[in-house]
Amino acid sequence: MTMYENFEQLIKNFDGATTESVLSYFLKSHKGRIALASSFGAEDQVLTDMVASLDPTTKIFSLDTGRLHEETYRVMDQTNRKYGISIDVYAPEREELEALYRQQGSYGFRDSIENRKACCHVRKIVPLKRALKGMDVWITGLRRSQSPTRELMRLVEWDEGNNLIKLNPLIEWDEKRVWDYIKEHKVPYNALHDEGFPSIGCEPCTRAVKEGEDLRAGRWWWENPEHKECGLHLRGA
Ligand code: SF4
Repeated sequence: MTMYENFEQLIKNFDGATTESVLSYFLKSHKGRIALASSFGAEDQVLTDMVASLDPTTKIFSLDTGRLHEETYRVMDQTNRKYGISIDVYAPEREELEALYRQQGSYGFRDSIENRKACCHVRKIVPLKRALKGMDVWITGLRRSQSPTRELMRLVEWDEGNNLIKLNPLIEWDEKRVWDYIKEHKVPYNALHDEGFPSIGCEPCTRAVKEGEDLRAGRWWWENPEHKECGLHLRGA
């Protein structure tokens, strides 16, 4: 299942290591079978900057749900230009998307958690499975302090649902560290962050948050916090 006997021992070995050296270790030992998933949020941009400088041939991919903000498409092009890379974009399957519109129209995801999960499944989960095919490891920009659903996440985890290793190099980072890195390295970032969006997702399911609000409060704000994952990052899913 995995070349690592024990993730806890592996995590211990990385104690005190820089984020770049953790990334470098995995990029080398899984070359050609490791991919960075990006939704063009601040954390993903930090990782893109690091990955592009460590090994620009690494696969970086994004899921185009068809409902993204214009600003997200803009930062996608800026990122490709700045690093001289070409981020792979995965779209939903045509037939599933057409069936989704028949079943719940354009905004049916607001009617129930079930509908919302069905929409995320067609627009995100199915394309993600295609993007991860043949990979040993996927790199994510998850941070523990982002939400209650992420508190138990670890630097390296086994992703049961996708049957591969999940590497979360920024798991211990706080928001300030992310933004200090972006400024210091002049990393292109999504203009929505300047308008109060800490977390970037689909346009109809993401809004700005007020000062003092939880960082994920702007995602699916009509639901309870414990439901606020699209299924991409459910533990033990
Ligand atoms: S975030 Fe909203 S629009 Fe995007 S896939 Fe999920 S339910 Fe659909």
